Amino acid sequence: MTKAAAPPIIVWFRKDLRLADNRALSAAAGEAAVIPLYIREPADSGNGALGAAQAWWLHHSLEALGASLARHASRLVLRSGAPLDVIVEIARASGAERIYWNRRYDPNGIATDTALKKALAERGIITESFAGQLLHEPMRLLTTTGGPYRVFTPFWRALELKNELAPPIDRPHHIAAPGAWPRSERLDDWSLLPTKPDWAATFSEVWTPGEDGAATRLEEFVDEKLDAYKRCRDIPDADGTSLLSPHLAFGEISPAQAWHAAAGPQADSGEGAATFRKELAWREFSYHLLFHYPELGRRNLDRRFDRFHWLNDEDDFTRWTRGLTGYPIVDAGMRQLWRHGYMHNRVRMIVASFLIKDLLVDWRKGEAWFRDTLVDADPANNAASWQWVAGSGADAAPFFRIFNPVLQGEKFDPDGLYVKRFVPELERLHPRYVHRPFAAPATTLAEAGIELGTTYPKPIVDHALARDRALAAFRQITSAA
Ligand code: FAD
Repeated sequence: MTKAAAPPIIVWFRKDLRLADNRALSAAAGEAAVIPLYIREPADSGNGALGAAQAWWLHHSLEALGASLARHASRLVLRSGAPLDVIVEIARASGAERIYWNRRYDPNGIATDTALKKALAERGIITESFAGQLLHEPMRLLTTTGGPYRVFTPFWRALELKNELAPPIDRPHHIAAPGAWPRSERLDDWSLLPTKPDWAATFSEVWTPGEDGAATRLEEFVDEKLDAYKRCRDIPDADGTSLLSPHLAFGEISPAQAWHAAAGPQADSGEGAATFRKELAWREFSYHLLFHYPELGRRNLDRRFDRFHWLNDEDDFTRWTRGLTGYPIVDAGMRQLWRHGYMHNRVRMIVASFLIKDLLVDWRKGEAWFRDTLVDADPANNAASWQWVAGSGADAAPFFRIFNPVLQGEKFDPDGLYVKRFVPELERLHPRYVHRPFAAPATTLAEAGIELGTTYPKPIVDHALARDRALAAFRQITSAA
């Protein structure tokens, strides 16, 4: 049967909003006409509920994917509803007998897809699924005793040893259109963009959602930043990281593309590339944990933390979300989050430690706030990282290692450039005091135009006292064990 005569194949795009290195798409395009489909799944399925920042991203990413498909004389069909209903209706209308998708590994995605595959088979529709969201599938990488890894280093060694990562594949040359197009909803009708106020207006200072934006980011990173990545990745003001995380979260680029680009002939094969690949492996490790411990985002992996006495003070939490804690590095991070839907990794660790340990707010509240506000919010990375900072996760930082926000600021932002970028009230403050305005002499503050408690907050907690309080709370759960 020729391609044109074969029934079309539905390709369901989910967290793989790209044409290149998309195995489901390439397989379908090689066999028949393709109906590219994106479904806005119901929020209560767990797959549809995106945070506000990611809703912004999704709008632009779908727009970009639709435009790329149009360049191949194809289209992106947009539909809302339960996947089973949508797929069956499109299959009936188009004559499609097959649906292809790339596998997802979060618990909601897995539950939906497993049930769906069965229900579709009962209706005569065959599903084929492909790998691509991760470097290695979590069910395949196991310890010698057949269990999941809980410690990163042996996981990383095993990942490196596998070393059989297939090179990424190109986008299909030709994507044949079906005889008739199913009806599509209008993206604008999905109201994914904020309007009044348009709080995401500043996001485009940094981001270009879509596969082309991702490819440009990767290319620039490999050409300009990879060599110095190991040295610069911890300095928030250095612009030393790839900024690929939201592109990876939406699958606009595959981790294999990033991995191979970092190891490619034009790239430095030294420390920069090795460190970058190790960070990609942390993403893998997070997914490995989420796959094997599906409650990662909801429950402490270390069950002793179930007895931890959180204060959960609402006022403290609100000040943290607004970047009004009186600790400049924390406030700068939280305001970077408002402004760009992103925060540098070092600062994420500092603000998370501050919320959990200085304010004794349950890490799950922080995780939920990040989920709503990060453009790169990721069910695996976010949950695993919060549990890592809390000390309740696998291979986590011990709880008693409590970041001092002043010393962290002075070490990683010595001239206060990052702080001054996001906390303009402190712009004129001498670098010696930029991470501790509360310790500055009155004349220094006055010269910088700062009135503590008025133009910039006084610290909401005394870090030394807060540290003691946190350690006492931690002792309670360890001594009771
Ligand atoms: P790069 O340094 O260029 O790293 C390349 C890629 O490696 C990243 O895009 C990311 O996919 C992966 N990566 C890097 N660091 C980590 C890490 N520590 N853990 C897992 N993967 C990593 N990352 C997310 O993608 N989504 C999240 O929701 C998220 N939440 C976090 C919450 C907290 C409390 C903390 C401490 C970290 C979180 N991270 C999260 C991890 C990390 O901060 C971001 O991946 C990183 O800052 C993204 O910037 P980049 O793409 O420039 O990273």
